[in-house]
Amino acid sequence: MTSGTLTLVATPIGNLSDISPRAIEALQAADVVCCEDTRRTGMLLQHLGISGKKYIVINEHTEFDACDDVVGKLLSGTEVALVSDAGTPGISDPGERLVKAAVLAGITISSIPGPSALTMALVMSGLSTSRFVFEGFLPRSGGERSDRIAQLVDEQRTVVLYEAPHRLERTLADLEVACGSLRRIVLARELTKMHEEMWRGTLHDAHKHSKSEEPRGEYVLILEGAKPPAPPTDDELNQALRDELNSGASKKDAAARVAAKFGAPKRRVYELALMIK
Ligand code: SAM
Repeated sequence: MTSGTLTLVATPIGNLSDISPRAIEALQAADVVCCEDTRRTGMLLQHLGISGKKYIVINEHTEFDACDDVVGKLLSGTEVALVSDAGTPGISDPGERLVKAAVLAGITISSIPGPSALTMALVMSGLSTSRFVFEGFLPRSGGERSDRIAQLVDEQRTVVLYEAPHRLERTLADLEVACGSLRRIVLARELTKMHEEMWRGTLHDAHKHSKSEEPRGEYVLILEGAKPPAPPTDDELNQALRDELNSGASKKDAAARVAAKFGAPKRRVYELALMIK
């Protein structure tokens, strides 16, 4: 028997006109639609004039158990579409576990690309898009949160975060303390919706802005990457070389260690070492 295909279908993040013709075709063709919330997806399908679908709920509570059921259906030839409440399934939304299980079972996976708040906010931010990291939602509290924020301090790639409006002020405050007041950030709010807004400024001003009015709606935060550290000066290299020489290292070994420590060219450091009396 030929297995069915698991099709990941991106749906609008606000403006319903962003649904693609291929997404509509995939939803029409599916025997089963996996979704987070049957009411929400039911309304979308109703808007698209699609009826008579069987729904299976895939959310953080059900994903573990539902995977076997869905994979079993796929293996027996059922065509399955996976959607989330909004945007691309699997991006801070359920789906990852189902895709992994389908891959393990040798099921064909296909995808209908479409909206995702992550890419839209990033490309509109005006910050570097050539290298970026997606952090999703930060942990809400505790050591896990502080560890993750600490990892962002020296991150040189642009960082994209999701945040709920009622946690925005706290997150901006924590980022300001960790990354400094002057790091630039963009707050992308209510993308594709009536009150779409891009706010650009420093972490300090963003924090102030979030306190001035109650944040409402959905937000993506795009944080400028950290500046690369300034190259070491000759004085710094000389001091480090002297420390190494004083502890008994040869000029060659001292130069190698100092070059590695500062990420400086070995030749330049060795030349400095040779000049030390
Ligand atoms: N899977 C979705 C995607 O592809 O973007 C993301 C789902 S995640 C549960 C929801 C978060 O995405 C929101 O809290 C917000 O950070 C961001 N988001 C979703 N829609 C948005 C929109 N229209 N404008 C700004 N941010 C949005």
